[in-house]
Amino acid sequence: MRASAYPLVDADEAAALVLDHTPLLGVEHVALAEATGRVLAEDLAAESPLPPFPSSAVDGYAVRAEDAGKTLRVLGESAAGRPFEGSLAPGTAARILTGGVVPDGADCVVMVEDVEVAGERVTVPRGLVPGVNFHKVGGDLRAGDVILHAGTQLGAAEIGIAAATGRARVPVHRRPRVALMSTGDELVEVGKTPGRGQIPDSNRWALLAALREAGAEVGVLGIAPDDAEALRRFVTGALESADALVTSGGVSVGTHDLVKPLLESLGTVHIGRVKLKPGKPFTFATLPSPHRQGQGEGLKLAFGLPGFPVSSLVTFEVFVRPALRKMQGFAQLQRPTLPVRLGYDARPTAERTEYQRVTLRREGQELVAETTGSQSSSRLMSLAGAHALVRVPAGHQGLKAGTVVEAMILALP
Ligand code: AMP
Ligand code: MG
Repeated sequence: MRASAYPLVDADEAAALVLDHTPLLGVEHVALAEATGRVLAEDLAAESPLPPFPSSAVDGYAVRAEDAGKTLRVLGESAAGRPFEGSLAPGTAARILTGGVVPDGADCVVMVEDVEVAGERVTVPRGLVPGVNFHKVGGDLRAGDVILHAGTQLGAAEIGIAAATGRARVPVHRRPRVALMSTGDELVEVGKTPGRGQIPDSNRWALLAALREAGAEVGVLGIAPDDAEALRRFVTGALESADALVTSGGVSVGTHDLVKPLLESLGTVHIGRVKLKPGKPFTFATLPSPHRQGQGEGLKLAFGLPGFPVSSLVTFEVFVRPALRKMQGFAQLQRPTLPVRLGYDARPTAERTEYQRVTLRREGQELVAETTGSQSSSRLMSLAGAHALVRVPAGHQGLKAGTVVEAMILALP
């Protein structure tokens, strides 16, 4: 063991520093079929009003309100997609179906249930009010209205709205390409029988899932041994096309921990230790890009996550996920938070902010947080099924049961 040369950086300062170095990726235009989950790169305005024509909300008769109480001559029909082309003079009506264009001259639609029909004549009730039973031009959207703001993630409704305004493609930020590497002589591929002293490379799969959930395209480099030359070979080729490198393991102060020296030799290590539990050895570096891909895309980010499974996922949550979201242009970088009442005494760590894993349950109007049990950084079961992370400030106070805190929500119960 060696003493670390890296200062312990405050966890919030470290998170801010990572974001300061994180570029916004370029824009591409994708077909709506590929747009799910992508982040809009520009405000989208409606080019034309919606609906684009006065459209009937019911099946019935388009009439003039002034003809209330009269028997009218039916001139024709206006169905969805098959408008009645004439205009309605006083004393006339047109049969109309939902979605049909309200003909010129008509100012109101009477529901079929409210009329009496006799051949080509229809008797409408008294007291008709203009403007009833149809959607006005621009009633949903006026031309020029901003319909979707840059930074919005595209889901079903947003994609529907883009389609309704006639867009087949939408401008979105490129997804970050991430090279993922596990390090450690003890690791074997999942599915192979580990020998004595060996363990399955579980971080790869956990981080692959976390990266994809955060919108990244992942290239898996596999398991690199604890050997300086081998590590270098693993990353050099991969860095050509990646925006970021995410590694796990090899960042503590053991003699086999070679990721920090590797990153030192490739670029600039900004953070080598953080006041965070779990995740003290978290490492962050920027690496020069062999070829610039456009403005603001000059640097690649490198995240050296600790090997302990919980440490790697918690540091991913705190540092990597917000950065990946910034790259994609998300307006919202952080997980949402909600006030939760602690159902347990959260003990502090003197020097480090701790992110404790909790489950949530509803109690009346409140969410109550219970610990997921032992918070050991090797115990992934503390994170499996966790609904939230509770931030316990460094110091000696801790948070007593009953305290209400803002928790980072991972999933609601
Ligand atoms: P390290 O950060 O390399 O010192 O690793 C710390 C601990 O995490 C050790 O017990 C490792 O065996 C374990 N570990 C490291 N990498 C992985 C991985 N990819 N999957 C599961 N456990 C790991
Ligand atoms: Mg190791």
